[in-house]
Amino acid sequence: MKPINKARIIIIGSGFAGIAAAVRLKQAGENDFIILERSEDVGGVWRDNRYPGCACDVESHLYSLSFAPNPNWSRKFSSQPEIYAYLQDCAKKFDLISHVRFRHEVKRMEWKEDTGEWYVATSQGDFNAKIVVGAFGALSNPAIPNLKGLDTFAGEAFHSSNWPKNFEPKGKRISVIGTGASAIQFIPALQPEVDSMTVFQRTPAWVVGRPGQKISPTKQKLYSKFPFLQKATRLGIYIRRELLGIAFRNPKYMKIVKKAALSNMYRSIKDPVLREKLTPDYIIGCKRILQSNVYYPAMAAPNVNVVTSGVVEVTEDSIIAADGTEAKVDSIIFGTGFQITDIPFANYIFGKNGQRLADVWAGSPKAYLGTTVSGFPNLFIMQGPNTGLGHTSVIYMIEAQIKQMMKVLKHMQKNQLDVIEPSMDAQNGFVEKTEKSMKGTVWTSGGCKSWYLDHTGRNSTLWPGSTFSFSRLAGKVNTGDYIGRQASAETEVPARK
Ligand code: NAP
Repeated sequence: MKPINKARIIIIGSGFAGIAAAVRLKQAGENDFIILERSEDVGGVWRDNRYPGCACDVESHLYSLSFAPNPNWSRKFSSQPEIYAYLQDCAKKFDLISHVRFRHEVKRMEWKEDTGEWYVATSQGDFNAKIVVGAFGALSNPAIPNLKGLDTFAGEAFHSSNWPKNFEPKGKRISVIGTGASAIQFIPALQPEVDSMTVFQRTPAWVVGRPGQKISPTKQKLYSKFPFLQKATRLGIYIRRELLGIAFRNPKYMKIVKKAALSNMYRSIKDPVLREKLTPDYIIGCKRILQSNVYYPAMAAPNVNVVTSGVVEVTEDSIIAADGTEAKVDSIIFGTGFQITDIPFANYIFGKNGQRLADVWAGSPKAYLGTTVSGFPNLFIMQGPNTGLGHTSVIYMIEAQIKQMMKVLKHMQKNQLDVIEPSMDAQNGFVEKTEKSMKGTVWTSGGCKSWYLDHTGRNSTLWPGSTFSFSRLAGKVNTGDYIGRQASAETEVPARK
């Protein structure tokens, strides 16, 4: 295992977070970094998720990088190809491509205490780096249920994030498992094409309307000519979404949003039995609020059958539900989400004393400011624990995390520190405060079982406060919260204030 490559900083992943981190490093005059990318192109989840109907449910003027405004968004809620193209453009515009090592999948990372470096093994050779930025993405590893008999199924079976390029739904009997954020987008796109569709719904989702408004070319030109107009639009969306965030923390206000979701459903679903099947029994917001104008009309279509019982078995040509329903199908599409709290990357990261991140976290991830982990020096995890959001753009959180990282790097440089990590006390303090703020929010008291909660019942996924409160915290370095040292120092010394 001989390192063949060295860089001061390694960024893993070239999605939104990887690109944003790289740009900020460059802007600070740091050019000694490489980006390890397992795929053949940049773009992360927006490269991988190519299912029909794939779009973002946060307005593009907010769901984009603050330093790379795009006046040419053609829709308020852009579709996947446009967001993917935006990220490709950013990588070119900020001259990042030469930094990317494509088809380099990270297999293992080990912290070397003696040299104060990370050893990073990839599918195409080994690397050493002082600093690692883990921009692996929070939703990049699909979760597929381990169904009895799935390996005997003769047709196509795939996850929404691995949509086969040549998949032809026309005239087929399709079954969809799951009714989450992805499924409610591809179900309406497929429904008119297919012969029949059986949707296996475990828990119904609350779905509010989402007008697919186009942004006129005139408006695009105005944004281009007068950038402050675009900034004002972005700010308007940001404020509106933060106001909505208040309701997530005070579930009684969620009644207004529930009304909007019910009227969205009642507009399209006239059958009382189907209405009952599709009406959730938990407070809206407890699981991600979904947005679509076309989901309910598709679910009401005559070629769609909704089964509310869990799937127990798959045969060569059918799916069998717990209530005995058997649906003959040609293809199975899993809209079953991603591995969130048992994040695969934690299995291959080994910190101080050889401790594995997955063992330290034990399925309930904790980090200081969602970004750094005690015992794992010089590692910055983007979209780490408690940095997810239920109400607005995660890109804002990613940029706040990067702000913290840049400040810590500056602090290291100023104080000639080679190694830094948060103290366990600081990390515990952050986690305790976050948990306290989580109490009473719709995510913990909304009466649902969501992927936000880990196996201990703790919400280790979301940030419970406003995004500006996180940004404020991340915008400064509490030097006392970090432990720093020089690589040659025998004992650790607290970082100077
Ligand atoms: P998801 O929202 O987690 O939905 C997964 C669905 O699969 C749920 O309905 C879940 O039911 C069901 N499911 C999971 N395991 C199952 C099993 N063993 N048997 C039956 N049903 C099962 O996943 P997703 O739709 O892929 O979306 C994941 C996240 O990606 C979203 O929450 C969002 O953050 C992001 N996303 C964003 C956008 C966007 O517009 N920005 C679009 C797509 C996705 P239960 O509810 O009962 O668990």
